[in-house]
Amino acid sequence: MRVILPDSTELELPDGASGLDAARAIGPKLAEQAVLVRANGSVRDLRLPLADGERIQILTTRDREDPDALRVLRHSAAHLLAEAARRLYPGTKVAIGPPIENGFYYDFEFPEPVSEDALERLEEEMRREIVEGREWERWETGRDEARRYFEEEGEPYKVELVDTAEGDISFYRQGDFVDLCRGPHLQNAAPIRAVKLLSLAGAYWRGDEHRPQLTRVYGTAFFDPGDLEAHLHRLEEAKRRDHRRLGKELGLFDFSDLAPGMPFWHPRGMVVWNVLEDLRRRENRRRGYEEVRTPLLYDSELWRTSGHWEKYQEHMFRLEIEERDFGLKPMNCPGHCLLYSIGPHSYRELPLRIAEAGNLHRNELSGVLHGLLRVRHFVQDDAHVFCTFEQIPDELLACLDYAYYLYDLFELDIRVELSLRPDNRLGTDEEWDLAEGELVKALAAKGLEYTESEGEGSFYGPKIDLHMDDSLGRSWQLGTVQLDLQMPKRFGLVYQGDDNAEHMPAMIHRALLGSLERFVGIYLEHTGGDLPLVLAPEQVRILPVSDAHRADAESLADRLRGEGLRAAVDERGETLGRRIRDAELEKVPYVVVWGDRESLDSVSVRRRGGEQSVLSADALTEELLAAARL
Ligand SMILES: [Zn+2]
Ligand SMILES: [Zn+2]
Repeated sequence: MRVILPDSTELELPDGASGLDAARAIGPKLAEQAVLVRANGSVRDLRLPLADGERIQILTTRDREDPDALRVLRHSAAHLLAEAARRLYPGTKVAIGPPIENGFYYDFEFPEPVSEDALERLEEEMRREIVEGREWERWETGRDEARRYFEEEGEPYKVELVDTAEGDISFYRQGDFVDLCRGPHLQNAAPIRAVKLLSLAGAYWRGDEHRPQLTRVYGTAFFDPGDLEAHLHRLEEAKRRDHRRLGKELGLFDFSDLAPGMPFWHPRGMVVWNVLEDLRRRENRRRGYEEVRTPLLYDSELWRTSGHWEKYQEHMFRLEIEERDFGLKPMNCPGHCLLYSIGPHSYRELPLRIAEAGNLHRNELSGVLHGLLRVRHFVQDDAHVFCTFEQIPDELLACLDYAYYLYDLFELDIRVELSLRPDNRLGTDEEWDLAEGELVKALAAKGLEYTESEGEGSFYGPKIDLHMDDSLGRSWQLGTVQLDLQMPKRFGLVYQGDDNAEHMPAMIHRALLGSLERFVGIYLEHTGGDLPLVLAPEQVRILPVSDAHRADAESLADRLRGEGLRAAVDERGETLGRRIRDAELEKVPYVVVWGDRESLDSVSVRRRGGEQSVLSADALTEELLAAARL
């Protein structure tokens, strides 16, 4: 048989040859370093046979950043962990151990609860296994035999996995550990040059709270020790920048167990919120949007009309009032359609752009709630544009212009994704062709590069999703622009055309910063809490050196407040050094120290980051005002 190599040359192999055989045929070095074979685009264990005509690529230890190669490495490391756990803690039962993003885990039932010390012991044992050498052996077996094996080993979780496994059963062995596993795995443990166990957590067997609670051990592994070091540094930095921690330290927001997933905003947090809200209102006015306000709670009939009852119900909070089913709105769109449908419309009113920062509720599982990033209650900078089909191109472009205007203000790097029709959708293929085509045209007109995501569109229309890459290289979705021909149809929306006939308008959904909660969370992590002057709850803090300087400090603060700046005076009896340090910890962008030498002509200023200078009060005011404008 023949397989095709990445450079399109053909390789002649005996029938039934494996990926490893192919690597050997190319060269001994390649065979030694081989990790995995990608055949016709999907990953396959090196030990498995290739098929005639397949296009193959052999990944090696040199593909140290390839996500598939890393998954194989980490999955193999997970098996080493299970081997170590069974040896160090006899009686340990093993459950599952997959690779995950950035690492792997394995779930165990330890005979006695273990503490964090176990991480170091297990890690050391894994290193010993690597040094000692481990080879993976793979074979297939019958279901009964597999069941019997795990019963004898006293592994009830594996028995259950055998019972519910689909397809053929394969085993992998290294050392004295045999696992039920689909693979793929490394040939041996040598490529695992760096391994680290990171944390312990509780995890229910099969994610079911009625089943036993297991101990999940998280770890990661790399082909290169330098890569592990860089990864650990990023983790440390991410911890330091965790928005939940910063939100508390900076006094912006909090959470309570009595309202899971629903943030409480402190006064300082509301300053940040209102800057964003003012920006939203100002730009909406400039760009021809009108503000509306619609109810939070609707009869299920509205959700049936919109399709949410059928496609989105599990994410909605429902309640019964006077024997009628109601649902809290998870998005503003159906309410806006209802609002549109209440009165007649003429083509002269179009495009009709209506905006509402409405309160939205989504029923997220408590297990996935995460600070401001995954919440049950939030507010989007949301708007809907109702327009004629001829107006679609201009309106889409205007939405993208608006989005990039905002992203430039906050100096964000944006990545664009075009999300296309999902399997579970409303409408005809012709309608989807039209809607997707319009989005493609708008992206081309704006000159934006993008990637396509098949199947990721909304059930009512395709979307342009706008993601930002943050300072740690993580990606977050912010905005979305969606073209929808389904809601107008389902709600029977019409306008009277210049031909006096009734026509259906198109509908564009767009949120640009996304949810304000989420934006604040992401932006805090991106900046590490060093908010730009315009968003800083306190822009200037003035520190009088002694009581004698208080009056002057107050009058400078008044003067700055008079210009619309947020200035405060720290008059506490603490030492000057302590007060300067507190201002730094609270990330106040400007600190003014006022002592004997200071006057309105000579103000000594420390900028966040350490830069110091002496300037006049007028020059300071000017500098602040320039930086505080959005
Ligand atoms: Zn496995
Ligand atoms: Zn919408």
